[in-house]
Order: sequence, then structure tokens, then C-alpha cells
Amino acid sequence: MKVLKIDHLGIAVNSIDDGKKFWTEILGLECEGTETVESQKVTTAFFPVGESEVELLESTSPDGPIAGYLEKKGPGIQHIAFRVEDIEAALRALKEKGVKLIDEKPRHGAGGTKIAFLHPRATGGVLVELCEREGR
Ligand code: ZN
Repeated sequence: MKVLKIDHLGIAVNSIDDGKKFWTEILGLECEGTETVESQKVTTAFFPVGESEVELLESTSPDGPIAGYLEKKGPGIQHIAFRVEDIEAALRALKEKGVKLIDEKPRHGAGGTKIAFLHPRATGGVLVELCEREGR
């Protein structure tokens, strides 16, 4: 598998409106737009930073994965996403190595991406997302 770069850092927030103030008003980043991914019960906002991005994640439902994360750990870095060249090939390679996966098959993420999560137990406690973007 080929990891191209850190695509984004996923940060759980109680509210994107409040959570984005530090990133926009203090750091001067610009919001590229928000998107709700119903299957994940999450609204995301992306802030490009050079070659990578900051992704803020706000839960749309009290039983979503971000709501669960906030309840357990509070706001903060929830996952790190690596851009890969071919996500299907990457998942196959990881499976062959016996790496525990949350998603055996890619699902749709924000911005037309294909994403899949690795299990934190396989990564030393870090929730790792792989993502593939068309033409980027
Ligand atoms: Zn992400």
C-alpha cells in the first residue's frame, strides 16, 4: 500500500460554530464548507492547511459515533486520516497482515471521498482513517 500524506486531522467538537472560532479567528484558516454525512451521523467542516486539512466533527444525533466520543473523552483529536493511492488495495494489504479493521470495505466520506477506519487496538490507540480522493 502507498500512503501519500496526512490528509486531515479529525477533531470532535460540541458545536462547529463555537469550535471553529480558534481555527478561523485565531489561526486565520478558512472554512472550505460544511457537509452532513447522514450515515455517520456527523456534520463536518474542513479547513485547509497547506497540503492537509483540519476537519471539525459535530454529531447530528445523540447516538452517533462522535456523540459517543465526546461523552467519553470530551472535545479533541478523534482521528488521523492518511491519504492512500488505492483504498481497496490498502485494505486488502492490511487484512493480509492481520490488522484489525473497523471497515472491511470503504464507505462514502465527506467531499466525495472513499474512507475506511482501522481499529485503534491495531494502531497503538489511534483511530486511523484511510481516504482516497478522486483526482486530488
Ligand atoms: Zn476524517
